[in-house]
Amino acid sequence: MSEKVVVIYSGGMDSFTVLHKAIEDGKRPLALTFNYGQRHKKEIDYAARVCEELGVPHKVVDISAINTLVGGSALTDDIDVPEGHYEEPSMKTTVVPNRNMILLSLAVGYAVSENASKVYYGAHSGDHAIYPDCRPEFVKKMNDVCAIANYEAVEIVTPYLEVSKTAILTDGLRMGLDYGKSWTCYNGREHACGKCGACEERLEAFRDNQSVDPLTYETRN
Ligand SMILES: [Zn+2]
Repeated sequence: MSEKVVVIYSGGMDSFTVLHKAIEDGKRPLALTFNYGQRHKKEIDYAARVCEELGVPHKVVDISAINTLVGGSALTDDIDVPEGHYEEPSMKTTVVPNRNMILLSLAVGYAVSENASKVYYGAHSGDHAIYPDCRPEFVKKMNDVCAIANYEAVEIVTPYLEVSKTAILTDGLRMGLDYGKSWTCYNGREHACGKCGACEERLEAFRDNQSVDPLTYETRN
């Protein structure tokens, strides 16, 4: 029987690729999606559909109660989602305080409960500038903690830690993935907005791969 692993899967393009990477690695993934009160549930719907198609067990956990403790993020609060590139200072408003430590702690707890030995998540170098908890030093130390926090050691696997979003997409395209099944846009309208930081980064990755995003955008026909 193949090794059971937990994959933190938001429904976005990075974790969509990570999920398939785990399958390609010969693992048996348990997909875990956190609902932390995002302003829309579109990403979660996309995640659910993909898991159903793949026959991957999928858990959606509502952790929106944490918003009474950690706030100030445009992704959950009633402030405007900034437009523009991820690495700009305005994107700091998309940081949920201590997000990855919280999510990884929960995922590791789930892994221990399910006798899964690893937790996969989609940290990548493009997030290093803005998100301290996507940086290699964070992942390394979190891994050290997860080795001793329980009787069962859990390893955190970040296959794309050192590479860019463009390289993640390159790997996904190599695996033949259909990115029309992933949703990245911060706005949850019918079509992706094409203007928010998430859309900009996504479109840039497709351009860098000389590829066209199969999603429909409001900004083009
Ligand atoms: Zn967008």
